[in-house]
Amino acid sequence: MAYPEAMARLLQELEKLPGIGPRTAERLAHHMVQGGRDGALALAAAIESVVSTVKPCSGCRHLTDRDPCPICSDASRDRRRILVVEQPRDLEALERAGWRGLYHVLHGSLRADGGGEPLALDALRRRLDRDAGADEILELVLGTDPDFEGDGTALEIAAMVRASRRPELPISRLARGVPTGSSIEYSNPAVLAEALAERRAIGRGQAAEDAP
Ligand SMILES: [Zn+2]
Repeated sequence: MAYPEAMARLLQELEKLPGIGPRTAERLAHHMVQGGRDGALALAAAIESVVSTVKPCSGCRHLTDRDPCPICSDASRDRRRILVVEQPRDLEALERAGWRGLYHVLHGSLRADGGGEPLALDALRRRLDRDAGADEILELVLGTDPDFEGDGTALEIAAMVRASRRPELPISRLARGVPTGSSIEYSNPAVLAEALAERRAIGRGQAAEDAP
């Protein structure tokens, strides 16, 4: 079907979005063109605003409009313990469960075939290399999902740490209170709080005992 050029371009852009196929793209585009004018303009403005103001925090890579983000700049938090999560949504869930250390957001899992987002791992490596003195990191807690990809990601991070300048850094993994194959994001706060409290050391290091 031949659409005007502007419409064809919109369809092309919509189809690039995750989970949007040609049919959904067409339905959305028609909705914007016919009758949804105000909503469509508000959507365009919201997209423009988010891409120009929201960026990954230079500390933890959580999305923020203030760098460093409110969590990284909160002096009352335990800056020596870093909880690594796959997605910002996982951070929100663990925040509700009462974690009072800092975070590192991977924005995805690292795939076993070497895919995923290597940038996230690089940022974590640089963070471990950089931190020293009063803010020296004492524990890395791996809060990736208890599924195939999350476990693979945890192993990859552990290997990265062993090869870094901090090979003896204690690493722990959330306890198995979170059912295998489920996601952090949808686990209830009580389950997550228990998984945090009962986290166990992996590899050579030992989880420190005075953990929050
Ligand atoms: Zn941050």
